[in-house]
Amino acid sequence: MKIKTVIVGLLHTNCYIIEDEVSSKCAVIDPGGAYERISEALEGKNPDYIILTHGHFDHVLAAARLQRETGAQVLVHKSDEGMLKERYVKNTGYHRGSYDAPTVDKYLEDEMTLELGQLKLRVLNTPGHSKGSCVVICNDSIFSGDTLFYESWGRCDLDGGDDGEMLQSLRRLGKLEGEYTVYPGHGESTQLSHERKYNYLMRAAIL
Ligand SMILES: [Zn+2]
Repeated sequence: MKIKTVIVGLLHTNCYIIEDEVSSKCAVIDPGGAYERISEALEGKNPDYIILTHGHFDHVLAAARLQRETGAQVLVHKSDEGMLKERYVKNTGYHRGSYDAPTVDKYLEDEMTLELGQLKLRVLNTPGHSKGSCVVICNDSIFSGDTLFYESWGRCDLDGGDDGEMLQSLRRLGKLEGEYTVYPGHGESTQLSHERKYNYLMRAAIL
């Protein structure tokens, strides 16, 4: 699997382009803005999927245009679908301005598997930051959205957020067997073994 990171938007969201090198099929995770730079990074390829780890504006702003221009399917968890149409994020000062919402083609569901050429993308619903927050696991990589960050985790005080659910979700990730590289929605990547040790909420959750 080839992974490219494009950092987009005001909140420096990590947009990831993942590609199966055998079939050249690719998918975009969290196109949060900067359509032109994402498009450039795609080098003329049309992604099969646009996967939204959750519905917050900073993860979806370029999704509608990318969907229109490439015909990719947009996937989000049903619980976060409503957020895609909201012009502001409740409990924050964030406003989308004039915003064009993507059309959801398919819902992400817990333990579903998406095929991308030879790659298998396993989806886990990990609520806490929002009800519909999901992570995508492929080989030894986890695309963790705003659930798990380097030594940290997503805020739980926004609409649909819940501390108890976050604890359970971090527990579930921490209990995955083996080693993974974690590619979060913001900030630097990390290793799951590092988070089991140094991320104090995950550490508490897996005790
Ligand atoms: Zn978020």
